[in-house]
Amino acid sequence: MDIKLPKGTKDIFLAEAEAYEQVESALINVAKLFSYAAIRTPIFEHTELFTRSVGDSSDIVRKEMYTFTDKGDRSLSLRPEMTAGVIRSIVENKLDVTADLPIKLYYVGPAFRYERPQLGRYRQFHQFGVENIGISSPYSVAETISLGVTAFTVMGFKQVTVKLNSLGDASTRDAYRTALKSFYEPHLPNLCPDCRQRFQINPLRMLDCKVPADQTLAKKAPHITAFLSKESQSYYAQVKTALKELNVAYTEDPQLVRGLDYYADCVFEFHMLSDKGLNYGALGAGGQYNNLVKELGGQPLKSVGFAFGLERLMAVLADSGRLDNVKPFTDIYIISMMPETDLYALKLSHNFRHSNFKTELNLEHKSMKASIKSALKKDAIYAVIIGDQEMKVNQVTIKNLQTQEQQLVPVNEVVHLMQHLTNQPGHHHHDEEAPDHGHKE
Ligand code: AMP
Repeated sequence: MDIKLPKGTKDIFLAEAEAYEQVESALINVAKLFSYAAIRTPIFEHTELFTRSVGDSSDIVRKEMYTFTDKGDRSLSLRPEMTAGVIRSIVENKLDVTADLPIKLYYVGPAFRYERPQLGRYRQFHQFGVENIGISSPYSVAETISLGVTAFTVMGFKQVTVKLNSLGDASTRDAYRTALKSFYEPHLPNLCPDCRQRFQINPLRMLDCKVPADQTLAKKAPHITAFLSKESQSYYAQVKTALKELNVAYTEDPQLVRGLDYYADCVFEFHMLSDKGLNYGALGAGGQYNNLVKELGGQPLKSVGFAFGLERLMAVLADSGRLDNVKPFTDIYIISMMPETDLYALKLSHNFRHSNFKTELNLEHKSMKASIKSALKKDAIYAVIIGDQEMKVNQVTIKNLQTQEQQLVPVNEVVHLMQHLTNQPGHHHHDEEAPDHGHKE
């Protein structure tokens, strides 16, 4: 077959899929620690949702959306991010009116952007994110950022940097846009075509241009900090005070602007080089959005949220060797030696599984050597070997695959014995200290 993966996508399987699940569940646990609840929204929405929220002047909406017309002639788009769908759902289900504030939700799932694939950049990628909707205190912004930092700590990283900036309120950004335009105007003929377009529709985005000459120029551009209103200034100051209190290390980056139009006040990114020194870009990013809920037909609710890109997190984890030992694993590997023992083995696997042991059943009738090799590949801890002689006297052989010790056991005692040998029925964690499987009384 010569049909290949679509460009910019990837298959995730075996150890990598297991690693994704482990990272996802670690992230979900952190969200729960901060008292967030889950939400799942559709992966496609009406296109208009994104033009109204992410913004029709953003690169995402202008160039990167997977938009199609369905058979009912509706314009739909694969979600390029999740915040828009979450807010749509909140408004549609009237949670903004009926639920206690703030509404705290986390999500994990795929998002889609038609981007040029490169290091850490895919067309289908996965985001884990949180939305804290209807906050009033600036400390809630700091609390949300510290959730992100805690997630890094839980994954074993300490050296994450939080980049921080304030985009102020609408009047701040208006004044700043004007200042940016007068700064850029004399240089317009030398700018890249994208920047000339951004100059017209979204000058803030010019600071984000990746073209080297434009980057050099951007460094000389005025900073938004000088344009912050008194209110925005003091709000931002309080966020920083709280971050210090929570021991969150941050660096202020007065040129950090986010690619989505709905951001206001505090915006931030999580950065870290991998152990191999590679920079995958922002591992996560977010900020405040104070008009989005209202813009989508709900109450005016101050909100803050962020999203991590799982592919980038996984890349950094892989570079530091943290995924090397991640394997789907098996507690017990049952080897049926011949067709006559298969049904007996099947029944035994059923008993083990109902006693919470992760059990693999091998009905291939290969040589003992080959079967044990398969058991080791599955990372099994015990093999249970069933031959016809033993079956006749209702016995099976248990082999500890780490110590090679083996013993004959009456079949009606084998589940019990295994519970005893493993101490904790069905609950091993390979990252814990290895239990003493060879232990016998
Ligand atoms: P954004 O919604 O653009 O703020 O992105 C949030 C996070 O999602 C980023 O920090 C990345 O980790 C991740 N991300 C965004 N776009 C991509 C992409 N094309 N491929 C992989 N990860 C992405």
